[in-house]
Amino acid sequence: FAPWNDPSAKAFIEFRNVTRSFGDFTAVDNLSLKIYEREFFALLGPSGCGKTTLMRMLAGFDAPTSGEVLLDGQNLAGIPPYKRPTNMMFQSYALFPHMTVWDNIAFGLKQDGMPKADIAKRVEEMLHLVKLETFAKRKPHQLSGGQRQRVALARSLAKKPKVLLLDEPLGALDKKLREETQFELIDLQQRLGMTFLIVTHDQEEAMTVADRIAVMNHGKIVQVATPAEIYEQPNSRYVADFIGEINVLEGRVSASPSGGARLECVAAGATVETRQQVDAKPGDQAWFAIRPEKVRISRDAPADPSVNAVPGEVWDIGYLGDVSIYHVRLASGATMKATITNTTRLVERPISWEDKVWMTWSVDGGIVLTK
Ligand code: ATP
Repeated sequence: FAPWNDPSAKAFIEFRNVTRSFGDFTAVDNLSLKIYEREFFALLGPSGCGKTTLMRMLAGFDAPTSGEVLLDGQNLAGIPPYKRPTNMMFQSYALFPHMTVWDNIAFGLKQDGMPKADIAKRVEEMLHLVKLETFAKRKPHQLSGGQRQRVALARSLAKKPKVLLLDEPLGALDKKLREETQFELIDLQQRLGMTFLIVTHDQEEAMTVADRIAVMNHGKIVQVATPAEIYEQPNSRYVADFIGEINVLEGRVSASPSGGARLECVAAGATVETRQQVDAKPGDQAWFAIRPEKVRISRDAPADPSVNAVPGEVWDIGYLGDVSIYHVRLASGATMKATITNTTRLVERPISWEDKVWMTWSVDGGIVLTK
């Protein structure tokens, strides 16, 4: 499933040069994006970057100042929210407190004038979908947070929209329940074969649920890619930093022949080499970035200490159970992190605080960022 790699694939949702201004503030800035049918797509970014505004323009609660929003080839301009084949589920769930679960789910269908027998059938189907058959007669206050969240989901899906819009849907749940619900969402999306668009500022959540992620900053999209691409090949320091942990060393390109680049990172006292093709000339400023789990740590100097090797001293070890994170202070005062899985750590002679160590990595491990 990767329609975005197929040049002939038709976009299902399309934002074309969309701008939304509030007075002289630009919340969404000339943004273009294509989302495909059956995709689970995440808009990810810090608070205020314009994610919700973008989603609201698709739902019809807000309109672009300029540009177009299309769904299945149709320009949505002027179409009110209730006539759009989208439904939005909010963080607050907004269930009616005085109504039972059954009535909450049936509400929109009744408003639409659906025949009673059909409503009953649809509500049963939705209750089954979210595994709440036995809770139909309860009121929201008699449910757990996770169950309320599932009622809200059932209600959003009851009209069988073509696109489900989820605005920080799991924000109110605790970590464990949130993780469980993420997998339920994926399962639901696959079973229904629907297009889901989720807004979140939680990178782990976006990585877990989405087929593709758009990372946003200041009303613009910085990168759109699969979770693995975003993690392995971020296109900028902004994306690298936003997703997971990463070590970033400033440097200058000393050579960038085809098949790899060489960088001098003076402050880190290191020369680094990557296999990455870099669009930069010798002398250009660039940054070398490497994930902590790709860094090896040892007491002994590597066979070739002249490249991809940084000496330092352990100044902190964070024990997280499955892994330990070693914070290593370099001669320059900067620190680098290395994540060591504890199965390895137990076998080896343990490295401890204040030990002099070498951090090394393979030529495939790091990436060069030019912005
Ligand atoms: P969060 O995760 O905090 O919801 P977000 O990325 O979803 O953030 P938006 O809600 O899209 O951000 O808001 C983007 C920017 O636009 C914010 O700076 C916000 O203050 C501004 N904004 C949104 N709606 C309005 C409005 N109706 N009037 C004025 N400014 C607005």
